[in-house]
Amino acid sequence: MAAKDKRTSRFKHPITLEGRALHPESLMMSYGYVPEWSEGALKCPIFQTSTFVFKSAEEGKRFFEIAYGLREKGPDEKIGLIYSRLNNPDLEILEDRLTLWDRAEDSAVFESGMAAIATTFLALCQPGDTILYSEPLYGGTEFLLTEILTRWGLKPIPFLARNHQEELPALAERYRDSLRLIYIETPANPTNDLVDIAFCADIAEALNQQRERPVLLIVDNTFIGPLWQHPLAHGADLVIYSATKFIGGHSDVVAGAVVGPASLLSEIKKHRSILGTMAGPWTGWLLMRSLETLRLRMTAQMHNARRIARYLQEHPRVERVYFPELLPEDSPQFAIYRKQCLAPGSIVSFDIAGGEKEAFRFLNALKLIKLAVSLGGTESLAEHPATMTHSDIPPDKQRVMGITEQMIRLSVGVEHPEDLIADLDQALRKAFAPA
Ligand SMILES: *Cc1c(COP(=O)(O)O)cnc(C)c1O
Repeated sequence: MAAKDKRTSRFKHPITLEGRALHPESLMMSYGYVPEWSEGALKCPIFQTSTFVFKSAEEGKRFFEIAYGLREKGPDEKIGLIYSRLNNPDLEILEDRLTLWDRAEDSAVFESGMAAIATTFLALCQPGDTILYSEPLYGGTEFLLTEILTRWGLKPIPFLARNHQEELPALAERYRDSLRLIYIETPANPTNDLVDIAFCADIAEALNQQRERPVLLIVDNTFIGPLWQHPLAHGADLVIYSATKFIGGHSDVVAGAVVGPASLLSEIKKHRSILGTMAGPWTGWLLMRSLETLRLRMTAQMHNARRIARYLQEHPRVERVYFPELLPEDSPQFAIYRKQCLAPGSIVSFDIAGGEKEAFRFLNALKLIKLAVSLGGTESLAEHPATMTHSDIPPDKQRVMGITEQMIRLSVGVEHPEDLIADLDQALRKAFAPA
């Protein structure tokens, strides 16, 4: 594992057994934590403290020298615990564990996905920079780019996810002098359109032959989650998560994370300390608990989604299913799927026959599946993107992005698949029953 040598963790936990690398799911219960730190407690406690006691004044001085970058850290020197806006054991241990899924050197956790995204933009950009981003993009991120960061002199320019192979090279060429970030979401929400990560990385790489401040590729990997797509392995510089979704996984916590190389993460963490966007210890502890079952949950959700996608595809009242595995095998989109995804994920969108009226009748008839936005939790959720998550996009633009008024988005949970299909089946029947 290339990341091994640069790990910044307080405690270098063994990640091999008899010379074999251990899988992330085998390490999620213990990695980065030593029971002796906490009276032998098996589980990492919640370090609900704002500040930490130094052993001596000399130690306090040393910790600050490193935290404030007043001198280089020695090869085995630890970053001391100072104050919970800078670091806290629940965050550091969680960050160590988060690196394992993406095989990254470091990670940083935040109190929301938006805090992770905003802190990353502020850490990496300066006035005059251009950001090329794929559309559809998460609404909060698009608002941040177009309504807030423009006031600070950044220039956000969108390109269509489904048409990125044509649009992105021309835009990268047009804005080559000011380009700083290529920011993509793949699969895109709610259409499951795929953007080729390596293709974007190659565009950045070609420009980087001739510049000092490199063009960076950032992938928001929230929609498919940390198990099924590893953007760093395809050339991305950073991976962002709304940990509210699959990582948290129980719809009971809002959090975010950035994962990537130590050099970029140290810049992002410096900004996090000053902006105060870090997660609290309670959030860190909840996410560690969630990570223990990440593989179990996401695997069950994916298998359920597969069954539901196939069921919907056969249903006479369903016009189209948006699910990577059901793409035509000879399509360029399917080729991207095979290249960069390990599984189709667990978000299934579909066009019901008819329009908004039928979509609403269907949503109102669901019983087991709840009508709510958000995704990635253990329970199945359904929503209407055109009038809910994506309602701030004008209708003509929604159509260009492939968001129809008949579209339903399902986030598939861990319930028994037969129960989920029974619920879909009765709701589809009710949507078309005579009033
Ligand atoms: C939810 C979400 C976000 C924002 O995360 P919060 O935790 O709600 O702040 C960003 N990107 C994507 C793709 C999301 O689904």
